[in-house]
Amino acid sequence: MSKFWSPLTASLVPYVPGEQPKDKVYIKLNTNENPYPPSPKAIAAIVGATNEDLRLYPDPTCEVLVRAAAAYYGLPEEQVFVGNGSDEILAFAFAAFFDPAKKLLFPDITYSFYKVYAKLYGLSAELIALDEQFRVHVEAFHSDNGGIIIPNPNAPTAQLLSLDEIRTLLASHPDQAVIIDEAYIDFGGQSAIELIKDYPNLLVVQTLSKSRSLAGLRVGFAFGSEELIDGLNRIKNSFNSYTLDRLALAGAVASLEDDAYFHETTAKVIATRERVTEQLLEMGFKATDSKANFVFISHKEIEAKEIFQQLRDKGVLVRYFNQPRIDNYLRVSIGTDEEMDAFIAALHEIVGV
Ligand SMILES: *Cc1c(COP(=O)(O)O)cnc(C)c1O
Repeated sequence: MSKFWSPLTASLVPYVPGEQPKDKVYIKLNTNENPYPPSPKAIAAIVGATNEDLRLYPDPTCEVLVRAAAAYYGLPEEQVFVGNGSDEILAFAFAAFFDPAKKLLFPDITYSFYKVYAKLYGLSAELIALDEQFRVHVEAFHSDNGGIIIPNPNAPTAQLLSLDEIRTLLASHPDQAVIIDEAYIDFGGQSAIELIKDYPNLLVVQTLSKSRSLAGLRVGFAFGSEELIDGLNRIKNSFNSYTLDRLALAGAVASLEDDAYFHETTAKVIATRERVTEQLLEMGFKATDSKANFVFISHKEIEAKEIFQQLRDKGVLVRYFNQPRIDNYLRVSIGTDEEMDAFIAALHEIVGV
């Protein structure tokens, strides 16, 4: 507490990102970063944009990137918004669409930033319980509400909703914005972007941080009806005119253009996930059906917190959430095959099989 803080600052409960320790070199399987480098074409474009033009402000409309994303996803440019990471877009969307007079709905186990944004904007939330297998049931989202947000696949539970289920959700809430946060959709899911033409209440949010290996560049997308995209632009232009810098614009466009590299690296992550899941099941773990670049696992005998600590001592970082319902689970990002072999070898020592 400080006497200089506003009542708002004093009331906040900020998000805590996964640790990025500097004490030694860890195998980092704790923040869902992609183990493969960004497209070499994206790096070349960023290097190419590192020139005297940095003297000048970037394009506030981000037109080159909006155009590239619109072409890539087959949407008109008026239905595309780009931002400084999808976290920024989510922050704008909470302000743009959610009615503070009503409750915002999201799953009880989900991306923990949603609670933080709700608090920041003075929105009250109703948490909708996942079932025992951590599945989302769209019928459970039935109360009167001022908006809905769900990640698909959900985080950290990794499970996917079908487009039919999302269609049901959208059709039952025609007067509220429904945000589908597709941070992990490229690892085995089907994007809800194709539903936008039928549902003006749908905002789909994506990021280049996970499937495009560009967490360090900070670029995200939102797709939706023109009225939703206009809403996001009203908030953005009341906050910061230049959300994407020149390097981010250049790198993001080049990344989208290198589709072959994108498909190759996401396929590798998926293949590693499937192989590692098999190994984990053989070792006495249970795992949710993951369609993301991480697995969500629990051992039948040894407590998650204990495994987390022992892995850390052996130089492998995974994510442990000390919160109800999931405090006996670990979220493990999918690394390279070599990294996952080291993780499995460390686990063998810990579980003794
Ligand atoms: C990683 C993640 C984000 C944030 O991604 P950035 O684009 O890096 O800000 C948003 N939502 C979920 C569910 C995530 O896991």
